[in-house]
Amino acid sequence: MGQLFELIADHALEKLDDYYDECHVCDQTAVDLYRYQGKLHLENGEIDDDIYAVCTDCLLTKKLTHSCDFDYIRTITNYLATSSLSIEEQESMRQILIEKYQKTPDVPLFMQYVDRPLCCNDITMFTGHPTDKAELYRMTENVIYWEKQIKEKSGGYNFRESGNPESFREVASFQCRHCGRNYFTFQFT
Ligand SMILES: [Zn+2]
Ligand SMILES: [Zn+2]
Repeated sequence: MGQLFELIADHALEKLDDYYDECHVCDQTAVDLYRYQGKLHLENGEIDDDIYAVCTDCLLTKKLTHSCDFDYIRTITNYLATSSLSIEEQESMRQILIEKYQKTPDVPLFMQYVDRPLCCNDITMFTGHPTDKAELYRMTENVIYWEKQIKEKSGGYNFRESGNPESFREVASFQCRHCGRNYFTFQFT
């Protein structure tokens, strides 16, 4: 489990570069910043929707929601509906998982839509992108393919045959912290 963010392994966590120098929530400088495209919900009910870079403290303590979060919330809901949980349990688990998602920065940056695989009634942890061919094969062969749900791999995801993706960052690798199963997503640009 990531030390800073539960859903991101520490070695896979990416800070924003120096182009961003202050947290868009607390305006602090000299803090590590992470990509988070979303909205800040203020106590007076106002919403600041011009959020892009957020520090760890604000991510964990402020009420932030991702832009277009409904898309992934639907994926969570659909996943839980296939679980053996009762309707009441599904609803409470749904709130817990949405909360975890909202407190997680946009790492990895999904090219098309947010799609963190779900397993064991939880959201899996991002463990990185491949950096070379050997890792690409290791991260995608004998590994579960996820596309809003567990999906059969089509031929295009056999990278030995179809060739490398345009960028290794189109492939993202995840691990369930409960059962240890590995998943990957592939979203091309
Ligand atoms: Zn901050
Ligand atoms: Zn699992």
